Amino acid sequence: MRNRAAVIGAGVSGLTCGVVFAERRWDVTIFADETGQKTTSGAAAAVWFPYDAEPADKVIPWSLITYERLRELARDSRSGVSLLEIWQFTRVGQIPIPDWAKNLGARPISVIPSEVEGSLRIPALPSIFSHGYALNVPLIDTTIYLDYLANRFHNAGGTIESAHINKVEEIPRDFDVIVNCAGIGARELARDSELEPHRGQVVIVPKLDLAQAIVCDDAPLMYAIPRAHDCVFGGTNSISENRAPSAADTTAIVSECSRILGIEAPPVIVVKVGLRPFRKSGVRLERERLSDGRTLIHNYGHGGAGFTLSWACAEEVWAIVSRTG
Ligand SMILES: Cc1cc2nc3c(=O)[nH]c(=O)nc-3n(C[C@H](O)[C@H](O)[C@H](O)COP(=O)(O)OP(=O)(O)OC[C@H]3O[C@@H](n4cnc5c(N)ncnc54)[C@H](O)[C@@H]3O)c2cc1C
Repeated sequence: MRNRAAVIGAGVSGLTCGVVFAERRWDVTIFADETGQKTTSGAAAAVWFPYDAEPADKVIPWSLITYERLRELARDSRSGVSLLEIWQFTRVGQIPIPDWAKNLGARPISVIPSEVEGSLRIPALPSIFSHGYALNVPLIDTTIYLDYLANRFHNAGGTIESAHINKVEEIPRDFDVIVNCAGIGARELARDSELEPHRGQVVIVPKLDLAQAIVCDDAPLMYAIPRAHDCVFGGTNSISENRAPSAADTTAIVSECSRILGIEAPPVIVVKVGLRPFRKSGVRLERERLSDGRTLIHNYGHGGAGFTLSWACAEEVWAIVSRTG
């Protein structure tokens, strides 16, 4: 008989774990109260970038493993993953280029008119930013990628059931292993007060002819990420559990992005809000033994980097289960 795993959560963490287990011939059911675009994963921008997740000594190696997996996926046109250059800017002083970025080929951009005009063709940039660096990263179009993962999971024999789980012990006894990928929902499910909702809002606007993604992490957080069929304008990051879109945030996001890109404010297609599952003491990826003897693996708390960490964390869940049963 095949081993059975139950995964709680159908965001990027749960779907990726589901794929990893199902493709290794486990019988897997995902239990989730929301799926696809309704999850926080459906609101993500989403570029590969280690941002707003702890601890760095684990997040960077996990990110680098996932970078390789996503680069491989970029070769499959059905995945929704592509490679894109991001231009990471600061408005004041110099932006330090992290060592991991240097190893991935990051190069500094001096924001002088000649270079900017030559490569970016956005004349407003030099008067707004003082320094930046360029880096090639995977871009994940969530409108395609979450369905791609769900299809891969179904094709490997996996099932997704709509259910709210109040206690992990509710998962039927014939599942040997339970994987908790509940994102911010783990606050209640695992009674974890370390989790903090880092609310993020993005505004989807029509496709723009941008050759790079433009990102600035200093306040106000700003990014413009060109995708195949539209463009993601962001963003916000504040401690709040309000999942309703804020009209004031929409206005501020569209106005700052338009100012930086030097364009008229584009029409809004849709506004999305998600709660980044930030965990103060770091991503929780560990095994627990339930009182009924079953194995529970926690895999949550990925903050603003759930896509960036997804494959490495799912493979580590698999490694823990393979090692310890
Ligand atoms: C605006 C924004 C921009 C972002 N940009 C990026 C980016 O560029 N790159 C990047 O890597 N990351 C980005 N992130 C972060 C990323 O979206 C998250 O880290 C990631 O989505 C977390 O995925 P998850 O699967 O762990 O959680 P979620 O996507 O929140 O999924 C949790 C799942 O668990 C289910 N669930 C929860 N509790 C229960 C329960 N009790 N019973 C049943 N089901 C339950 C939910 O219904 C859902 O299916 C961004 C986030 C936001 C909001």
